[in-house]
Amino acid sequence: MPAIARYAVFGHPIAHSLSPRLHALFAEQTGIALEYTALDAAPDEFASVVREFFAHGGRGANVTLPHKAAAFALADAHTPGAKRLGVANVLTLLPDGRIEADGNDGAGMLADMRGRFGFDPRERDVLLLGAGGAARAAAFALLDAGARNLTVANRTPERAQALAAALSAPERSRTAAWNALDRGAAFDLIVNATSAGVQHTALVLPRSLVQTRTVAYDLSYGAAARRFVGWAQAAGCAAVTDGLGMLVETAAASFERWHGVRPDVDAALKAIRAGTRP
Ligand code: NDP
Repeated sequence: MPAIARYAVFGHPIAHSLSPRLHALFAEQTGIALEYTALDAAPDEFASVVREFFAHGGRGANVTLPHKAAAFALADAHTPGAKRLGVANVLTLLPDGRIEADGNDGAGMLADMRGRFGFDPRERDVLLLGAGGAARAAAFALLDAGARNLTVANRTPERAQALAAALSAPERSRTAAWNALDRGAAFDLIVNATSAGVQHTALVLPRSLVQTRTVAYDLSYGAAARRFVGWAQAAGCAAVTDGLGMLVETAAASFERWHGVRPDVDAALKAIRAGTRP
């Protein structure tokens, strides 16, 4: 009998990850037998642990903090989307034995934003908070989706400038100093791609960013989304959501890449949300 196909998520730390539960839900929905585990790998051992995993029955892996750049670096092949970002959150064993890197965070955010949150960024003015890996994926996706203007604000301004330059769309992207946000105009969409929530640090934002039709999208979820979601509600945003739908979309896209079957995202989100109230 062939050994059961192995899948995993790598991170450091990783115990909190919802990915094993999501893939177990998808496996149950689709009747596909698989093993999906959360594997902790410190940065200095990440590449060797991943290679070992793929050498011993691993077929696919998700990668989260802080390994997304290392995942891109260790891969033998890269999808065009991953190449543009320079980071990867999905590794797949190709039939010829090579490891392929892909990035699906941006597509997952857009699918959730348009499909579930009901917001289309086309022709909208967007403020993106943060300039790390997730912000980078979000920035490209928002511009691809036709945002009229994308303003990047980051605690460390040099990183916002580097991200804006990488976008290669000077007519539609700009940066704003975090401490000058109260002097600018309001936005249609505010995306929080900082890790302030995960790190339990404060996120200080002026109410003037919000006008009556402003909506807010937090990439964080669970308790980590509490502060930004609370701020957006108090500031009068017309609608606010956390990033749980995005997480489930990206997990479902990985599952589809590996098994060729699209799982029921709404059913999985409902099940997972019941266990992750902020
Ligand atoms: P990074 O470490 O790459 O980037 C973190 C960013 O947050 C940096 O821009 C950093 O600014 C900023 N930041 C951290 N603390 C503060 C603070 N107190 N005030 C203002 N800015 C702050 O992380 P990622 O980009 O990988 O992840 C960001 C968030 O997105 C995480 O919460 C992660 O969980 C979430 N995420 C959610 C996904 C989903 O599917 N829902 C997928 C991927 C990520 P500076 O440059 O100054 O350090």
